[in-house]
Amino acid sequence: MSDNSIDWDEEFADDPDYQALSSEERQRILRVMEKMLDMGMAGVYGEEDANAPDSDFPCKNYLNQCQAKCCTFIFALTKHEVNRGIVQYNQQKPFFIARDAGGYCPHLDRQSFQCNIYYDRPLRCRQYDCRSDNNVWPEGLPAIKLPKND
Ligand code: SF4
Ligand code: SF4
Repeated sequence: MSDNSIDWDEEFADDPDYQALSSEERQRILRVMEKMLDMGMAGVYGEEDANAPDSDFPCKNYLNQCQAKCCTFIFALTKHEVNRGIVQYNQQKPFFIARDAGGYCPHLDRQSFQCNIYYDRPLRCRQYDCRSDNNVWPEGLPAIKLPKND
């Protein structure tokens, strides 16, 4: 997924106003919105539940298989996260999280697959659980394969 392939239907899946629009109305509004985002004239904030618990998924057991696939996902930062100024966002599409040339979040250490801002990472990252996500595991959650120590 690249910065140019935002799935707006997914982004607004829980928005009743968006869902009430006809397909033509959606296309018209989204075209205007995309233009405004491209011109930096508008921004989209993410809406996360700050009270939801962090995921307890044991990422360290799967990192050598997933290679931090979730750190390629596109999502919008919350207003609070943008205002804190720690997490980088895409300047061309505010306030979606930034991506590097390889399609990964710039806060990811590509060698270790560790998050460089782990204690300040966005709510979306904290709460995401990949175990039933086909985008990460198209054939289902695999058995754990820990690296060999020899
Ligand atoms: S949530 Fe899943 S895809 Fe993301 S780092 Fe953890 S194991 Fe990997
Ligand atoms: S902030 Fe950290 S956990 Fe979130 S996408 Fe970037 S590298 Fe991954």
